[in-house]
Amino acid sequence: MSQSLEKLRSRMSEAGIDAMLVTAIDNVRWLTGFSGSSGAALVTQSDGIFISDSRYREQAGEEVRGLPVEIYQSPKSLAETMAEAAKNLGLPKLAFEAEHVSVATFNSWKERFNGVALEPASNIADQLRMVKTAEEIEKIKAACGVADSCWSHVQRMLQPGVSEYDIGLDIEFFIRRLGAQLAFSPIVVSGPRSARPHGYPSERKLENGDFVTMDFGANVDGYNSDITRTIVIGEPTKRHREIWNAVLEAQLAAIDAIRPGKGAQEIDALSREVLAKYDFAKYFGHGLGHGLGRLVHDIGGMNAVSKDILEEGQVWTVEPGVYIEAFGGVRIEDDIVVTADGCELLTHSPKQISPT
Ligand code: ZN
Ligand code: ZN
Repeated sequence: MSQSLEKLRSRMSEAGIDAMLVTAIDNVRWLTGFSGSSGAALVTQSDGIFISDSRYREQAGEEVRGLPVEIYQSPKSLAETMAEAAKNLGLPKLAFEAEHVSVATFNSWKERFNGVALEPASNIADQLRMVKTAEEIEKIKAACGVADSCWSHVQRMLQPGVSEYDIGLDIEFFIRRLGAQLAFSPIVVSGPRSARPHGYPSERKLENGDFVTMDFGANVDGYNSDITRTIVIGEPTKRHREIWNAVLEAQLAAIDAIRPGKGAQEIDALSREVLAKYDFAKYFGHGLGHGLGRLVHDIGGMNAVSKDILEEGQVWTVEPGVYIEAFGGVRIEDDIVVTADGCELLTHSPKQISPT
C-alpha cells in the first residue's frame, strides 16, 4: 500500500471519518501518484477506488498505486461514477474536501449521491501533504539547484542599460535549457518598480542606484523552487544598505527560529519585530512565507493569522520584504525544510547587495 494512503487512512480514523472523497487534483496526485488533470479517489478504511475518464486509461493503469482503477467514458460523468461507487460500497455517508468543492458542485452532487449523506471535512489530505517524503524533498532540492545555477548565470546581466525584460527572458531560457519547467513567470523589477512585490518585467533599463529584485523558480519532476534576491546597481547608498541589511536580518532571524513545534505565526511575527527596530515593519505588507511543493504556493502560510504548526519534513519559503513607494523594494527569499531540531536551507545562492 502506498505511504500516502496509509497516512490518509490513519488521519481519517483520528477524525472519525469512515469514507472520504478526495477530489482536489493535487491531493489526488499526492495520494495515488496519478499525474493527469482529471480524477478522484474514494477511500474507506478497507476499500477504495480511483476514478478517471477514458483519456487517462493507460496513464492511470501505469501510475496509480494502492487503489483499483475505474475508467468511465462519455456520456457518463465523474460525479455519476463517484456516486455509483459510493452506492456499490454501501456507504451511508461520505466526507468530502470542503475547501475544494464549490457550492454549485456540491449541489449537483447532492442530487446524484441520493441516499449517501455528504459531510464536509476540512484539511484532511492538505494537512498531510505539508509533510514531504524524502523522495519529494529530493525533487525540491533538484528544483532549488536549478534556481541557484540560474542566479549565478544571470549575474552578468546585472548592469546599467540591460532591460528587466531581457533579464526575465535570460532566466526563463536558462531554466528551460536545463530541461526544467518554470515554476512561475519570473518577476524582475528595478528602481521604483521594485516597490511592487509581484511586478512583471518591463522594458525599463537598469540604472545606477536601482534596487533590482528577481523572484523565480524551477519545476523539476512536478516539484518547485522559489527564490528571490535583490541587488543594487552601482555603489549602494547608506539608505540602500539600511533597507537591505534590515531585510536580511529579518530573514536570518526567522530561519534561525524555525523548528518543529513552533507556530508559523510566531516566525512571521519575529521577522516583523526585526523590521520594526528599523521602523520598516509598516512597509512589509505580505506574509513571511508559504508552503512549497507540488504547488509554488502550496498548503500552509507563515502570516499573522496562520494556525500552522511547524513539523519535520515541511517545506517553506522565508521571504521578508520592504517596499517603499517611489523609492524601491527589497525581498530576500529562500526555501527551507524543517528538520528534527531546526531547518535546512535548500537554496544556497549568496545573499549580497551587489552583483558578483
Ligand atoms: Zn518567490
Ligand atoms: Zn514565494
